[in-house]
Amino acid sequence: MARTGIVKDNRYMDHVADSYHPESQERLRVIYEMVQEAGMQGKLVEIQPRMATDEELELIHVRKYIQLVASTAGRDYTMLDPDTYACAQSYATAKLAAGGTLVAAEKVIKGELDNAFALIRPPGHHAESSRAMGFCLFNNVAIAADYAIKTHKLKKALIIDWDLHHGNGTQHSFYEREDVLYFSSHQFPYYPGTGSINEVGSGSGKGFTVNVPLHGGPGDAEYMKVFEEILEPIALEYKPEIVFVSAGFDIYYQDPLGGMQVTPAGFANLAKIVLELARETCNGKVVFVLEGGYHLNGLRDSVKEVLKTMQGDILIEGRDGKIRGMVDPRMIDPVIRKVKETQKPFWKKL
Ligand SMILES: [Zn+2]
Repeated sequence: MARTGIVKDNRYMDHVADSYHPESQERLRVIYEMVQEAGMQGKLVEIQPRMATDEELELIHVRKYIQLVASTAGRDYTMLDPDTYACAQSYATAKLAAGGTLVAAEKVIKGELDNAFALIRPPGHHAESSRAMGFCLFNNVAIAADYAIKTHKLKKALIIDWDLHHGNGTQHSFYEREDVLYFSSHQFPYYPGTGSINEVGSGSGKGFTVNVPLHGGPGDAEYMKVFEEILEPIALEYKPEIVFVSAGFDIYYQDPLGGMQVTPAGFANLAKIVLELARETCNGKVVFVLEGGYHLNGLRDSVKEVLKTMQGDILIEGRDGKIRGMVDPRMIDPVIRKVKETQKPFWKKL
C-alpha cells in the first residue's frame, strides 16, 4: 500500500461567507468526516500545514495584491470579485491553503510520502497574479509548482486540471514557460471564458499549455478517452519530475454548477491514469489539490475513491456495473481530433 498523505486542518473551515455560497466550509466537513470512517481511518498520513510566507506567495502573486488580501484580515466582509469574498479569517485561511499544498509537495518530493492530497480551501486555480477570481484567493497549485521548480530545483512539473472550469490563473502563471506544463479539460464555453484549443502557450512556453474544451455531457468513458489519447502521450513525452492535479469535483454528474457526468468510479479511473503516468515518469510523485466540487455527497464519495486509488486500490465499477461504460464518440471525437491537430507540432507521440 502506498504512503498517502492528506493535508487536513479545521482552520480551513474559517473562511466563511455571510450568506449562502456554494464554496462553503461544509465541503471540507463532509470530506474530513469521511476520512475518519472505519474503512479509511488510520490508512492516511496526516500532514500538518503551515502558512505560506510572503516570499512564497510572491512566486505567483504581485506584492500589491497580497497586501490587498492581507488588508481584509480582521474586517467583516470584503468582496474581492463578484463571486469571491474575504471574511476576517480568509487571509489566514488562504495562506494556510497555499502553505499546506507546499508541505504536501515537499514531502512527496523528498520521498517521505508516495503521494498526497491537499484537502484545503479556499481553492486556487482561478486566482491571477494580481487578483482574486471565482472563489479563489491565492493560486495554491501554481505556487506549489513554482516552489517545486525554484526551491527544490526540479526541472519540470506537470499540472493536470480536471476541474469543470478552466484554470485561467494557473495557465497565465506559466503561459510563457516550458518548465511547467499545464493540461486542462473543462466545460466550454463557460466560466471563466478562457481555455480554447488555440491557447497553447507563447514564447518558450509554446506547446506547454494543452486545453481540451468540452461541451456539457461527457462522463466517465469520455473523460478517460481524453486522458488516454491526449494527456497520457504528452505526459510520457514530457517526463515531468512531479505531477500536480487541480482536482475539481464539479464534473460530478449531480454537481449544481456543471453539466458533466463523471461518477466516483470515473474519478478513481482518472486518478489511476494520472498515477500510472506518474509512475512511468517520476516514481509516482503526485500531489492532488482540491479545487471545486459543490455536491456534498458527490464530493465526499469521489474524494474517497481517489484516496483509495492513491493507496493502490484497484476498483472500479461504474454506475452501470461496467468498468468504464461506452464512449459516445460524437461528444468528444471532434474535440480530440482538433486538439491533436493543434498540439501535434509540439508532441511527437500524439
Ligand atoms: Zn470549478
